[in-house]
Amino acid sequence: PTAGSALAQYQAILGVTEAFKADSFPKKINLGVGAYRDDQGKPYVLPSVLKAEKRVVDAKMNHEYAGITGVPEFTKAAAELAYGKGSPALENLVITQSISGTGALRIGAAFLERFYPGNKTIYIPTPSWANHKAVFDDAGLQVQNYRYYNKDTIGLDFEGMVADIKAAPKGSIFLFHACAHNPTGVDPTEQQWREIEQAVKAQGHFAFFDMAYQGFASGDTNKDAFAVRHFVENGHQICLAQSFAKNMGLYGERIGAFSLVTESAEEKKRVDSQVKILVRPMYSNPPIHGARLASTILNDPELYEEWLGEVKGMADRIIRMRALLRENLEKLGSKHDWSHITSQIGMFAYTGLSPEQMDALAKEHSVYATRNGRISVAGITSENVGRLAESIFKVKG
Ligand code: PMP
Repeated sequence: PTAGSALAQYQAILGVTEAFKADSFPKKINLGVGAYRDDQGKPYVLPSVLKAEKRVVDAKMNHEYAGITGVPEFTKAAAELAYGKGSPALENLVITQSISGTGALRIGAAFLERFYPGNKTIYIPTPSWANHKAVFDDAGLQVQNYRYYNKDTIGLDFEGMVADIKAAPKGSIFLFHACAHNPTGVDPTEQQWREIEQAVKAQGHFAFFDMAYQGFASGDTNKDAFAVRHFVENGHQICLAQSFAKNMGLYGERIGAFSLVTESAEEKKRVDSQVKILVRPMYSNPPIHGARLASTILNDPELYEEWLGEVKGMADRIIRMRALLRENLEKLGSKHDWSHITSQIGMFAYTGLSPEQMDALAKEHSVYATRNGRISVAGITSENVGRLAESIFKVKG
């Protein structure tokens, strides 16, 4: 039933796209897409990725199999990006390339199902990315929820979240969105992460981080990795799912990594061997093209700097569109508080609009997004933001 609900949600998003396509109004707006769009509403191929791709092609590399855990130059650089260059955690880190973020979550789920010594229940936020529950369920973990979003404040239910961490049986597994929470765009502050870390430690819980948007939230890959690094610095043996779909625009290349912090060279060896035993019968070894692209960028100082600038460019455009949307709504004289539009972070915004208001947006204004009120800020452009604000103002006031 849960995989069904993730499917239903996926189909709802596809339904949005279908409805959008069927609409003949030239100024229609699609805010259902889960991928970045440029200010012309087009998919964005990062210039650093184009350069990396050219280098890879020009090098005329062969197409032999990678090892079970992927392309080592890629995984080493991915680990440094997440944990920070020089992080002590890198020494005993087990890492494997994965089929993007989803595949990383799946490997982690399978590993925990097989080896986690404690309570095999994973707590995920309410709400969360719909596929979380499906992935963890399918891997045989018990899935429970912790409070996260407060619909009255359109913000974080911090007290509820910490209370649920404290109330969960000792040694449970907690899934955290490292940054740019999907679907709400609501993230804990650094101070709140510190308190979350203390609660997790006090209960002896195990933290599983999903970092699908590193760099995409603030525009700074270090800042976005704060939670992950803070937990590691405080002695947690976390595990982590990384994706390069969003921050490199490599959606369809399926490039990501799963890693686990171990406490000794001996433990690292055992975990590494078990990860290989898990991956081998799943898909044998991962695809190489995306790994070569990401690795070329991450390992070349010049391309790396260029890429950081492009990530910041994407994050900044999103931040600008949030500000413009709010400004336009306020200019129209809306009496509602729209501060959540600018305080939320990352690709998605929870508008607080009801399902009926979302229906009206689609039917009367040709503005398409899912009925939960989530809009993809990446679908907003300098050109359509004015009409979008007017449409929201007309359905909500
Ligand atoms: N986690 C979260 C929170 C996401 O939003 C996504 C993408 N929608 C993913 C993981 C995985 O995406 P992918 O498999 O494309 O890397």
